[in-house]
Amino acid sequence: METKVIHYDLAKLPCQALDGVGARLGERLTEYGLNTVQDLLFHLPFRYQDRTRITPLGRLRSGDQVVVEGVIELAEVNRTRRPTLLIKLWDGTGHLTLRFFHFTPGQQHLFKPGVLLRCFGEVRGWSTQFEMVHPECQPVTPHMPPHSQDSLTPIYSATEGINQRLLRQLTDQALALLGEGYLPEYLPDQILNSFQLPKLADALRYVHRPPPNASVEQLLQGTHPAQQRLAFEELLAHHLSLRRLRQNLQINLAPTLPDNKQLTSALLNSLPFKLTAAQARVLQEVKQDLTQPNPMLRLVQGDVGSGKTVVAALAILQAVENNYQGVLMAPTELLAEQHYQNFRKWLEPLGIKIAWLAGKLKGKVRNEMLEMITTGNAKVIVGTHALFQADVQFNRLGLVVIDEQHRFGVHQRLALREKGYSEGLYPHQLIMTATPIPRTLAMTVYADLDYSVIDELPPGRTPVQTVVLSDQRRHEVVARVQASCCEHRQVYWVCPLIEESEVLQCQAAETTAAQLTEYLPEAKVGLVHGRMKSAQKEAVMAAFKAAELDLLVATTVIEVGVDVPNASLMVIENAERLGLAQLHQLRGRVGRGAIASYCVLLYQHDRLSQIAKERLAIMRKTNDGFMIAKRDLELRGAGEVLGTKQSGVMQLKVADLLRDSHLLPKVQQAAEIILREFPERVEKLVRRWVAHREKYGEA
Ligand code: ADP
Ligand code: MG
Repeated sequence: METKVIHYDLAKLPCQALDGVGARLGERLTEYGLNTVQDLLFHLPFRYQDRTRITPLGRLRSGDQVVVEGVIELAEVNRTRRPTLLIKLWDGTGHLTLRFFHFTPGQQHLFKPGVLLRCFGEVRGWSTQFEMVHPECQPVTPHMPPHSQDSLTPIYSATEGINQRLLRQLTDQALALLGEGYLPEYLPDQILNSFQLPKLADALRYVHRPPPNASVEQLLQGTHPAQQRLAFEELLAHHLSLRRLRQNLQINLAPTLPDNKQLTSALLNSLPFKLTAAQARVLQEVKQDLTQPNPMLRLVQGDVGSGKTVVAALAILQAVENNYQGVLMAPTELLAEQHYQNFRKWLEPLGIKIAWLAGKLKGKVRNEMLEMITTGNAKVIVGTHALFQADVQFNRLGLVVIDEQHRFGVHQRLALREKGYSEGLYPHQLIMTATPIPRTLAMTVYADLDYSVIDELPPGRTPVQTVVLSDQRRHEVVARVQASCCEHRQVYWVCPLIEESEVLQCQAAETTAAQLTEYLPEAKVGLVHGRMKSAQKEAVMAAFKAAELDLLVATTVIEVGVDVPNASLMVIENAERLGLAQLHQLRGRVGRGAIASYCVLLYQHDRLSQIAKERLAIMRKTNDGFMIAKRDLELRGAGEVLGTKQSGVMQLKVADLLRDSHLLPKVQQAAEIILREFPERVEKLVRRWVAHREKYGEA
């Protein structure tokens, strides 16, 4: 007889070592990501069946398994196709339909109008149409205890062939092995004690099998100390892996770029404005980094309109002064074009040649640009991700600036850095983002980067006033646009994505432009959308910038970066479709001059969901990017806001960056302790929690 070999390292012990798991089930578990007993233990219940309290019918959510109580309003057998017993419950807060496909005459007799019924089952359907199919039911009697059961049942995420029963049975076995202590505790006593965290094994036992007296509320919210303990360790592991990535990057060498102030002073003197104190402070931090022999890795956050571009230009000049190239990469062609125009205006008078590269650039022009880049004739290069193309060869790349980081993943950032590698030196990196993130969050999510904030807008800006209107009042908005044009104040009219296809989206913008031209015979109307040729787009933008056009109809291509200070009215159609971050970015196109600016958010009155309503209300209430980001985090979750979902950073199993943000300062303190006193545990923690494919360490 074959005996199973038991490794007591649960991180290595395959699930097949457990009773009842043969080769086939083992394979299925592996496919589901459950290779080892440790994987099973970290496959936590994602909710708990709560039979301990009664949920009001007005608070049901689809998918919940709950106990409800209500009075039978109606009981009828529907005999059309398949006899069905339908019961309508009412509890003063809402309705629920119970549906029985199989029922006994006894049940039919029991379920009479006026009877108070207690049921347990899964809620299905949508808002007003909630129902339960075959719930467990019993009439409430005067002597019945108020609660039917007093402990929670864990519910795991399951899949075909791996059901709840199996998962409970397997975790029972896994927890028993845990009793023998073979899942090492990596958090030193010092940390457990000072942050009052339970031990790993205790925390796991608790979340898998909460005792009868467990706090239901906390467990369901994920705020129980046992869950927080696991979230803490997970956040710590991710933080450590980023710190290690940073260490690995920083042992590399970069060109030292002393600040000899020739070109930077020349630019500063030629600008029509003085840097704000915040810009000057951040620039100083950047300049200091550039003088170091190791690559700068700095994230600069500054709200829309805070003036990040000029800071980037000044940093690039420090590279150029030292006879190195600087590159600025933007997420869209339109934005890259605009940066290119700005840089030409600022830098060409200083005798600096600028190359520009985007996907649409072809043939002769492209070859010329490539040549300028390769020979080093162009000291400054502006472009989109076309800069990654194989035939782009930099000459001596000293600094890479990436604008609007959240559009690019970490991997792209690292790839550009590789491309700039030459003669043992890596380029410095500056990353700019308008996404405001609370500082503690930034320090965790971007622990591989230094962090600066431009927390001040240039003076003389008046806050944008925002109004929210139903599209039924579109004619009023058109009148307002007309008034604005008459006063020579320019207007943006944005037509965001309605159709999934870009073609249709552009058609919608075309139609709107045609309509507005008809309604506003006096106004000069221009149009930009993503399917126009670069040269065409550029010409339209230049005309708008030169105030030759009064009204610019655009798709969301103008979302980031476009800068026309005389534009003081922005109309956004279908605003209910856009996220907060996008709305804030778009609105940031106005309010750039001293004149009062307005933003009109038009929504389709029949499409306004509750969450869209909330978003529009937030936009009306505040212009503060931090405030908006905070609400955005609450509404959408951190992964989406920070773009970490797409880029694969911080795929968290247990922790929730928002819910657990109060842990972050402690996580940082703990990381210091581990790095200083228990460095050998870094690798172990990272290995336990951070998916292998993320490959922080090797980057
Ligand atoms: P963002 O941070 O959103 O990228 P930009 O760099 O596009 O902002 O700057 C917005 C506008 O503010 C531009 O017209 C820019 O020239 C102008 N600007 C930048 N810094 C200052 C300043 N210190 N004083 C006045 N205007 C400034
Ligand atoms: Mg910008």
